[in-house]
Amino acid sequence: MAQGRPKYAFFQGEIVPIEEAKIGVMTHAFNYGTGVFGGLRGYWNDAEKQLFVFRPLDHFTRLIQSASLMRMEVEYTKEDLTKILIDLLRHENYQQNLYIRPLVYKSAEKIGVRLHDISDDFTIFTVPMEDYVSLNGLHVHISAWRRVDDNAIPARGKVSGAYANSALIKSDAVLAGYDEALVLNNDGHLSEASAANVMLVRDGVVYTPSLNANILEGIVRRSLIHLLREELNIEVVERNIDRTEVYMADEMFMCGTGVQIAAITKVEHRPIGDGKMGPITTQLRDLFFDIVRGKVADYADWVTPIFVKEPVES
Ligand code: PMP
Repeated sequence: MAQGRPKYAFFQGEIVPIEEAKIGVMTHAFNYGTGVFGGLRGYWNDAEKQLFVFRPLDHFTRLIQSASLMRMEVEYTKEDLTKILIDLLRHENYQQNLYIRPLVYKSAEKIGVRLHDISDDFTIFTVPMEDYVSLNGLHVHISAWRRVDDNAIPARGKVSGAYANSALIKSDAVLAGYDEALVLNNDGHLSEASAANVMLVRDGVVYTPSLNANILEGIVRRSLIHLLREELNIEVVERNIDRTEVYMADEMFMCGTGVQIAAITKVEHRPIGDGKMGPITTQLRDLFFDIVRGKVADYADWVTPIFVKEPVES
């Protein structure tokens, strides 16, 4: 994955050089996976010389909710967190695409599996990053692993420990020669990919697993459902999806902050549609890529500009 090193992190209440943002081996979250995290992207718009972050308030809302599921308190509001992020990005002065990783974690250096009476902390760092999966045609399999159930670890939270499940899914797919995996629920329906939501197209209608299919409530998923319905006039149905519907899809794609919109063109050596990225996926991705770079006035409120621009004199 092409990614660079940051110069700074926000750690223990202030922006510090990244080398100083370190936690000890006894840290509770390191031992037990008792952290929650977020993942945001920043997009560089070269024509405007501006960096745009996609829906930070929505991401921080989810982070605060994830923290609350894990009995952690965030001492900042979503607006405070957005200000901290803007400050950090101005320090870094990035002029390229990047990925943002906020974490709330059980920071006490204590042994003992529990959530109560363990202090927590917040940190955030950002890394330069371009596309990390091929966006034009992925070959996936259906994982032998099942998606972690909401009654085991809350699927709606982005809980660090739950990503052991994602890591097993991803590595087993890659080591078996696939690019990614689709994961089923315990009831045998499609849930998502290792760390992204999924959508498929059949006869011009877009289908995606509903929010109670043990999926993460993806912010890109939600945004795309809106764009499909309101901008592309395409019907979107959220419901249980059977395994065989995957094999019979005309188009399929993963969506999420990390993968963005990545076409799936083959499932277990069976081509999806004609085996190429389809027209709905292409149209949706073009629109999404313009929006995240701040190029679509109607969706200016989905992106937050980072740098202060000098007013243009007329
Ligand atoms: N599902 C999982 C398990 C994920 O880790 C992610 C990435 N955050 C997503 C879905 C996509 O969510 P979002 O669109 O909010 O990035």
